[in-house]
Amino acid sequence: MPATFSSWRLPLLLALGLCVGGLLGWLLGNRIAAGVAVVAVSEVVFLLTRIRHQSLPMMAASHPSPPLQHDRFMTRSRRIASSLRDLRNAASQLPDAVVLLDQHQHVRWFNHAAERLLGLSRPRDRGVPLQQRLAGSELSGWLQAGAREPLNDIVAPGQPDSQLTVSLLPFGQRQHMLLGRDISHLNRLEQVRRDFVANVSHELRTPLTVIHGYLELLDPEDSPELAPMLGELRAQSKRMGQIVEDLLTLSRLETQHEVGEERIPMAALLATVRKEAEALSQGRHQITLESTAEADLLGSPKDLHSALSNLVSNAVRYTPSGGHITIRWQRTPHGATYAVNDTGFGIPETHLSRLTERFYRVSSSRSRDSGGTGLGLSIVKHVLGLHQAHLQIESTPGIGSTFSCHFDKARLLPPSRHGEH
Ligand code: ADP
Repeated sequence: MPATFSSWRLPLLLALGLCVGGLLGWLLGNRIAAGVAVVAVSEVVFLLTRIRHQSLPMMAASHPSPPLQHDRFMTRSRRIASSLRDLRNAASQLPDAVVLLDQHQHVRWFNHAAERLLGLSRPRDRGVPLQQRLAGSELSGWLQAGAREPLNDIVAPGQPDSQLTVSLLPFGQRQHMLLGRDISHLNRLEQVRRDFVANVSHELRTPLTVIHGYLELLDPEDSPELAPMLGELRAQSKRMGQIVEDLLTLSRLETQHEVGEERIPMAALLATVRKEAEALSQGRHQITLESTAEADLLGSPKDLHSALSNLVSNAVRYTPSGGHITIRWQRTPHGATYAVNDTGFGIPETHLSRLTERFYRVSSSRSRDSGGTGLGLSIVKHVLGLHQAHLQIESTPGIGSTFSCHFDKARLLPPSRHGEH
């Protein structure tokens, strides 16, 4: 190490100086200087021996002899190769499909799951363009379009009874890794959940109808002391009936992949929705309708009626007496928007992203008191999804909320003459 040399450099120079001094002294007849010089020479010899002794292993380390260097290089190479082999073996056993692609999207390597799920085979598909290999499948179109976003829930090309979620991840020098996750198991669980909810709701429907029917037959005047209890029983059985109906509606919407393409005369639908809001409000709110879109919708009249009136019913239920509710149907650059604005309680921002989850409520007591089932917005979201539309929620606590449904141009029709009211 250089530090060892420099720490010895000073005494070494001192000793050398003494030697030279001593030699001169001896030559000039100075005995004391000669004695010091002998001591100094022996010290220098000792120091040099020590320095050499200490430096040798260090010098050997920084300049190893060629055979030593070769051995170390070989050991290190073997270790790296073994780590690489382990990594590749682990990747080849992954349950997800992994395909490594070069900068031209030609297949460089793939694992066993990719053989099974994507139908690739070795050595046939090595070096083949992946898009060409998967031609005709959803994956091929997705790759061609740039594969920027993950592709969800597609049929696995190599195993048609499995479903995949695929994504393309860049790495290194314009290379890519295609990852395909087998989500068949998750889908099966989701199906079990859906079937369970649908079956339970269906089974509950008949007994509830019977209970409700008998409760209606009972006359509170026959036994006045039971009248308050009877009123509560009727209200609760009605609520349960509504929850069951909403759950069944949700089950149907969840399993549906497309909707009918019927014309929905918007002028008539908006007038109905407004009438329903007025009936629910019973004069407690000021309700305004602004319809400027001059367009009808294409889709399922029953489902869209349910979604649009749900938003108005929420506005009435969550706006205190004296508030304003405005229903708007207007054009936008991309299509048209149906929006319901209220001056009600509003919703804190933290809740906004979760409002469309089943049974999610900002305040359970307020929802129950106003007759809510906690499923309304979930139904709205599903209905809009089936119509390629989406829900936007803006709200400020204490000021009010706006629920907007954005429809694409493709869902719009010029209004029919009979539709005008
Ligand atoms: P609910 O039957 O409880 O009304 P929804 O799914 O329709 O169920 O709504 C979910 C929750 O969103 C409601 O419980 C309520 O807390 C909140 N919410 C919905 N609409 C409004 C609104 N216009 N103003 C304030 N809160 C609302």
